[in-house]
Order: sequence, then C-alpha cells, then structure tokens
Amino acid sequence: MPRAARSLVSGDVRRHNLTLVLDHLVASGPSARSEIAAATGLTRGAVTALATALSAAGVVRESNPTQTGRGRPITRLELAADTVAVLVAQVDADTATALLTNLAGDELHRVERRHGRPMGAPDAVLDVLGEVTRDALRAAAELGRRVVEVPVVVFAPVGGEPPVVLADTDLGWGVVDLLGGLRARVPELPGVVTLASDGWLAARAERSLLDGVDDLVYLKSNSGIGGAIIAGGRVVEGAHGVGASLGHLALIPDGPACECGQTGCLVTIAGPDALLERAGLTRLVGEHGLAAALDEFSRRVDTGEPAATAAWDAALPWIARALQVLSLATDPSTIVIGGFWAARTPSIERAFRANRPAVAAAFGGPASEIPIVSAGRLGTDAALLGAAWAARDRLLADPSRLGV
Ligand SMILES: [Zn+2]
Repeated sequence: MPRAARSLVSGDVRRHNLTLVLDHLVASGPSARSEIAAATGLTRGAVTALATALSAAGVVRESNPTQTGRGRPITRLELAADTVAVLVAQVDADTATALLTNLAGDELHRVERRHGRPMGAPDAVLDVLGEVTRDALRAAAELGRRVVEVPVVVFAPVGGEPPVVLADTDLGWGVVDLLGGLRARVPELPGVVTLASDGWLAARAERSLLDGVDDLVYLKSNSGIGGAIIAGGRVVEGAHGVGASLGHLALIPDGPACECGQTGCLVTIAGPDALLERAGLTRLVGEHGLAAALDEFSRRVDTGEPAATAAWDAALPWIARALQVLSLATDPSTIVIGGFWAARTPSIERAFRANRPAVAAAFGGPASEIPIVSAGRLGTDAALLGAAWAARDRLLADPSRLGV
C-alpha cells in the first residue's frame, strides 16, 4: 500500500471508520459489505479492509452465505466479539445484581442476591455485591470471555474523582467509596470500572428507544423514587452531580420527615416503603424482597383491593404534582414513567392532566397530548441495560480496547 493511502486508514481516521462499521452492525444487524459501504459512505475496499481487521480480532464474523435469487450467494457480517463481555454490577435497596452481556447487549449470565437492606452498613452490602460480581466473573471465564468493562450502578447520586456514592437514603448511606470497596473484595476485577447513577442510565436507555426526543422527564420508582431530566439531548447533572433527585422534591406541606433532612419529600408518601406500609405489605419485603412486594402491591391495585388502592390514590396527586412542576420547569416533549410505575402510567397521566395550564393548548397540538406521557419499555431493568449499552457504545468508540 502506498504510504499516503496507509496513513489515511491509520490512527483517528481508522478508529472512526471502525466505529462507523460497528455502529452500523449494532443498528442494522447482519449486513453485506456493500450495504455497509452504502450506509457509511466508505468505499467497498475500505469496508473490506476494516472487516478483515475486525474479523481477525474476533469482533465480527461472516454469517452463512444466503442465496438471493440469481447471482452469487451473499455473505453478511455480524457482530461476534465472542471473546469479550461487559459485566454490569448493580446495588438497589434490596438486591445486588451482576449481569454479563455481549456487545449486542444480549444477556449471557445473571445473578441476583438480596442483601437484606442492612441500613447504614455499606460493608455488608458490598460483601454481597462482591459475591455476585465474582460469580459473574467465573461465568465469563467459563464462557471464554474477557470482561472489558465493569459499569457499577447505584440508586443514588454519584460524584467526585474517583467517583463515590454521595448519599443513598434507601440504604442509610453517607459518602461511600463503593468502587474501592468492590476492588478490595474482588482484586481480580478487570478492565475499566465506572460508577454511575441509575436514573441517568435508565433515562438514556429509554430515550434511545424513542425517535427524536431531546427534552425528556424520566420519573421512576422501584428502589425509592428517582429519574432524570434530559434537556437539549443532555442529562441535567447540576453543579454537584445531584440534578433530578426527583424523589426528594419537597412537595407536601407539613409532610413527614425524610432521610435526606427535608420534610414532605415525594418519596415519603409515594415511595415504595410508604406505599407498602399503607397497603399492609411491609412484611413481604422481609420475606420475599422489595421487587416481589411491589409486584403484589401492583396486583392488589389492579384488583381494587381497598388498602392498596387507598395507598396508590393517596400517592397519585403528589406524583402528578411533581410532573406538573417539572413540566413547567423544563417543557419536555415526553414524560416517561419507569420502574414498577410504568404499568400505572394511565392513572398517573390522568392525575397529571387534571391540572394543566391553558397555554398547553397553544403548543400546536391537542393539550391532551402535550407533553406525551408514555410508559417506559425497559421496566425495572432500564438502568442495568442502560449501563450495558453505554459500555458497549464506549467500546465501539474505541475499538482498540477490543484488540482491533
Ligand atoms: Zn428527602
């Protein structure tokens, strides 16, 4: 190859072109070289050279040739990366989870263990997180995969450098060096380890399933109440990294005291603990875990059981008020309701629309559709999947980490 041509496919340009090819395969699935060339604007020759490098590194492979009418059978390229994996570790108010995925985001292995919610005792929770993380590392080894990235998800604000958990009111934590604690327990922890807050990851994951939504309010409940605000395509992080602490909007006049130090926070009347207590289901958390207790709560609201229905009806106006305040503060095109609330989106939307300004009608559509209120599609896995997808995107943006 002449020197000039070689320099064109080296360094940044080569990395950029590799990412173009990989992004296309993620978005469109198995594709012929000609299809990749047409979609990316690269020449057929460039695609062939890049595909050869990606195949040699085990990142893509050729599918079995398929015969399409006359002519030669078509061989497609597909993402393989059989040798690498992403390990997402997550701590919520009830459970430690480790999820192993391939680059396409497909689940390879998953282990969940309840930590029993020992309030104010991060070491006990970290012990369980360490166990599930080691279990997933063993699974990766058995599958012959190298773990290249370990995103750690917490249901709490994160800040600092290196990042730490700033406070987790669901677990009674102040500042906790979760990554340091995990590394101490799992010294073999490989690759790049990151720490992120669930609400932002979940909001980005839900947004990636919507078309052209740059302004979004994401409000969810499973472990506490959380969410994110996306404005102009960017998550609002705030000056201290605690933007969109939506469970702690102090809405209720003379309301109950909250772990955070305020009174009248949304979470004190609409959070899982409050709902389960009013519904008489608190003991289920101890016996079967928070997720199972919330499933039972939802089932009882669906069937009109009086205590659960009363608990939900008491929470609903305050959830609606939070959305009314957020809507006028941020003017989103879409509100996404996540976690176990997703299944309750119709009642939340009705309560929200019951107190909307007349000006909403002037925004170019029926007031009943501004903003759009929709149920999240990823359920309680939104943050886990968001973390896996974000790690995938970081890897594809730097294929050298995949050995290409
Ligand atoms: Zn609070």
